[in-house]
Amino acid sequence: MKKPTITIHDHIPATRPPACDVLALAAHPDDTEFGAAGTVIRWADEGRRVVYAVATSGDKGTSDRTISPQRLSQIRRQEQARAAETVGASEVVYMGYPDQGLEETAELRKDVVHLLRLYRPRTLITSDPYRRYLWHRDHRIIGQVAMDAVYPYARDHMAYPDLLKAGLEPHKVAEILFWGTEEINYRVDITATFDRKIEALRCHASQMREFRFSDPVEWLRDRCRDMAEGMSFELAEGFHRVALPL
Ligand SMILES: [Zn+2]
Repeated sequence: MKKPTITIHDHIPATRPPACDVLALAAHPDDTEFGAAGTVIRWADEGRRVVYAVATSGDKGTSDRTISPQRLSQIRRQEQARAAETVGASEVVYMGYPDQGLEETAELRKDVVHLLRLYRPRTLITSDPYRRYLWHRDHRIIGQVAMDAVYPYARDHMAYPDLLKAGLEPHKVAEILFWGTEEINYRVDITATFDRKIEALRCHASQMREFRFSDPVEWLRDRCRDMAEGMSFELAEGFHRVALPL
């Protein structure tokens, strides 16, 4: 199998990377593809630099009792790297938290602030913490922590004196887009990128096997059609967008 050529970090990099336009922050490998790949592909095609950060390796995401969490973690990291490459992202950062183990801790909040100050994105895209029913706890927590990290912790120089001392200056994100939302206020036309979204999702073979619908492509197409309701295009990804004063 072809190895991905994009930069992969097994933890938050110690050296200073180039700034990015978009930071996609997910609880698990495959979350960004399900929630936002059609949009991310558009941005990458426009030349925007997209970096993925993935809090866990999704090491509990299987019904296969023969596979160990360590092996699943390896597989899912490889799948994520290939999917990120497919959408046109340039880096993936694995944050090393346990699957089904995200908590709203000071450590996780600081790690997200660290990422924001390191990569300095204009746009943060992540999962909506306010979806009320049938939402993975990790999805809820990463969204909540992301929002808190953007405002006020990444913005305020007093928040983390040690990060400041390390040269990580405060950073203001201009907008947050939440996928998986029940309150869509922003729709992106993905009619032209839907097939590539599916191609990116197919990189997550371990997860597509687990899909509870008989035809995941048609299920997704229907969802994207629903999200485009009332628009002049056929397929959309819908988000709750929060603009922040700069
Ligand atoms: Zn997930």
